[in-house]
Amino acid sequence: FAPAAHEPPAAPAGSCAVPAVVGAGARVELATGGHAEYANLDHAASAPCLAAVSDAVAAALPTYASVHRGAGLHSQVTTRAYEAARASVARFVGARGSDAVVFVRGTTDALNLLARALPEGCAVVVFAAEHHASLLPWQHRGSRAGSVARLPLPPTPQAAAAAARAALRAAPEGPRLLCVTAASNVTGEVWPVAELAEVAHEEGARLCVDAAQLVPHQAFSLSRSGADYVAFSAHKLYAPFGAGVLAGRTDWLRAAAPYLAGGGATAAVTDTDVRWNDLPARHEAGSPNVLGAVALAAACDTLAAAGQDRLHAREQELLRRLRTGLAAVPGVTELRLWAADHPRVGISSFVVDSLPADVVAAALSAEYGIGVRDGLFCAHPLTRHLLPEGHGSAVRASIGLGTTAEHVDRLVRAVGELARRGP
Ligand code: PLP
Repeated sequence: FAPAAHEPPAAPAGSCAVPAVVGAGARVELATGGHAEYANLDHAASAPCLAAVSDAVAAALPTYASVHRGAGLHSQVTTRAYEAARASVARFVGARGSDAVVFVRGTTDALNLLARALPEGCAVVVFAAEHHASLLPWQHRGSRAGSVARLPLPPTPQAAAAAARAALRAAPEGPRLLCVTAASNVTGEVWPVAELAEVAHEEGARLCVDAAQLVPHQAFSLSRSGADYVAFSAHKLYAPFGAGVLAGRTDWLRAAAPYLAGGGATAAVTDTDVRWNDLPARHEAGSPNVLGAVALAAACDTLAAAGQDRLHAREQELLRRLRTGLAAVPGVTELRLWAADHPRVGISSFVVDSLPADVVAAALSAEYGIGVRDGLFCAHPLTRHLLPEGHGSAVRASIGLGTTAEHVDRLVRAVGELARRGP
């Protein structure tokens, strides 16, 4: 596949040491005949596993045992690995010394945990731009929120800060929480987290950040941003499914009833009474996902050691190539809430005027060996608002460590051909 003519060549290989992902270079059969290297442009759904993560899991398997319960050597080794994983995650998110790191199943789980750990009657403010994982838990069964204000999509980041301030000011007296996405899974646009933390604190509220789409692409720090809580998922951070994190302030989490009732969360149980454990065990009932935590920590350590700023710069180069290429295809419209030059992570969602998104996505897979996602991306209010008239869904291309300039160029060329071909 020839590189797009309108863009300079990508940085030479080796200019940035990129941690290897497993499965890179796999070949797929094309419906049109022949084979192509699989171009995974669906990192935002789930990122491929890092080779270092696979190695860490393989190394942990021979001594795999239940933690915090056994006197045996394997239990001791695994307990140490589990707690070391917690320390790695704490470093990765720039946790303050006093913050808790609770292992959960993913971002959805983390935010549902926080919804149940809110002080009773807490006022919650969210934007309609959220992924359903951060939009819905506050109104769901078990949530202790007293009120939930859903703010309309702000036309600019500055408007977001102003709207959040007004909503927090208007919220009932008492504890208040603002929950925002750090980077949109639809547009990739980065939200002004530090500014929103400042606004929240000035209004006597707390800020929870859904960083599921931010941490795979750029460094995040609880202490530097001022955010009170952060949630993210291992499977978007180059580690397998089933692990995630809620990290942040301890007081609400400590005062709340355990997320799940069961072993591990309990300090003592009598015929008539239960004394619950302190954090983090309080919210980690049941045998924890030790391998998931080890894998997640290996991903955090590997990305930090590789230099997240350098990886971010490489991805931004690829993203520029992708967006410039798509912008040059007649009949392609990119979805965005804010100005075209607003900072974003490696995500671009778009529609092809002449073709439904599912047809585009299916053709990209079958004819070009390119994996993308189509749909409303579990952020229905935002995506519906951004879709041009006549479209019911969009195509999302998302890049990451497994992406090459050739993948990007192939997508741009394929979209151009499909757009020209029409219905
Ligand atoms: N938040 C954002 C921004 C996401 O993109 C996603 C997943 O797509 C989630 C939350 C939910 O993550 P999980 O499905 O791992 O719980």
